[in-house]
Amino acid sequence: VVSQTTGTANNFRVVIRVRPPIKRETDGKICRTVVSVAEDNKSVTISEALNQDQSQRGQFDNPSICATYTFGFDYVYNQAAQQETVYEKTGKAAVASCLQGYNSTILAYGQTGSGKTHTMEGFKEASGRGIIPRSVEDIFGHIQSQASERHKFLVRASYLQIYNEVISDLLKPDRSSLQIREAPKRGVYVEGLSEWVVRGPQEIYNLIERGSQQRATGATRMNELSSRSHAVFIVICEQSEIVVDENGDEREVFKIGKLNLVDLAGSERVRDSGATGQRLEETRKINQSLSALGNVIAALTDQKKRIHIPYRDSKLTRILEDSLGESYNETLSTLKFANRAKNI
Ligand code: ADP
Ligand code: MG
Repeated sequence: VVSQTTGTANNFRVVIRVRPPIKRETDGKICRTVVSVAEDNKSVTISEALNQDQSQRGQFDNPSICATYTFGFDYVYNQAAQQETVYEKTGKAAVASCLQGYNSTILAYGQTGSGKTHTMEGFKEASGRGIIPRSVEDIFGHIQSQASERHKFLVRASYLQIYNEVISDLLKPDRSSLQIREAPKRGVYVEGLSEWVVRGPQEIYNLIERGSQQRATGATRMNELSSRSHAVFIVICEQSEIVVDENGDEREVFKIGKLNLVDLAGSERVRDSGATGQRLEETRKINQSLSALGNVIAALTDQKKRIHIPYRDSKLTRILEDSLGESYNETLSTLKFANRAKNI
């Protein structure tokens, strides 16, 4: 999901990426691909076996026992889609609006193992780099070509995690249980969250690596923390530029744009019945915050009911409040997306 708060018109785009089967799925077992992406990359079709036994007997392709559903999206990437393509078509515009002084958010939603971290972070080697490193490179590329005595840039980054509705700083591990505050000038912010001034892509990579390691350390202690928490990487780009106005006078123009890059907790609904104690509480919190996100996006994209936007229902939606937008002229209901994606 990509949201760009460009001027008055807020834009949501929902794109789907179908990942190729991975080794553990192809190893030994018979593995079937049940989704197919349309030639125009605008829809995806899923075949569902109506009877589990029959599908196991290999009659899956028999149309009499198969149901097919087709869902349309802004764009659907097939299995062959490369990281570069995904960035160029989906990430780049969000970076461009950040550089114009607007806020934007890219959220990766999907069940554990569906490719969220791969899409957002990716691998280290060149072609495997995901949306986060490519965004950062783009920002600094722009700065390098535009910066001058009269046009100055300042880039800051933060990296936080929301686990069990508790916010912690992934770059300052001793800072946890951070609170969300609101101030007239600053808007909504996380109190005590560290902000790191960065001068080039390498400095940001170091931060990402440090934060991701911190996130992974928890994984051995708690149930795969990385799939049960939301990770939000925030890049803030500030600019001051001396421009000459229509009267020939010089004045200084300030711009500030924020880019939120979010790797959401796994969207699988762990059955409450199987979970107890902390695990049950954890599951409820994840389900709650993902539905809060769905509700906020649905309210923002609802053309008829200009209703109250329930940002306050979760930490995640509060943090993203100023980057998900205030405009309602939308064509797409993302709640439908959430439901559809859940069904898939
Ligand atoms: P998630 O973060 O949603 O739990 P991951 O990004 O960790 O999922 O992906 C699960 C596995 O699938 C990883 O081994 C990852 O490298 C692989 N994978 C995900 N997407 C792709 C892709 N588009 N191409 C190749 N491998 C992928
Ligand atoms: Mg992940």
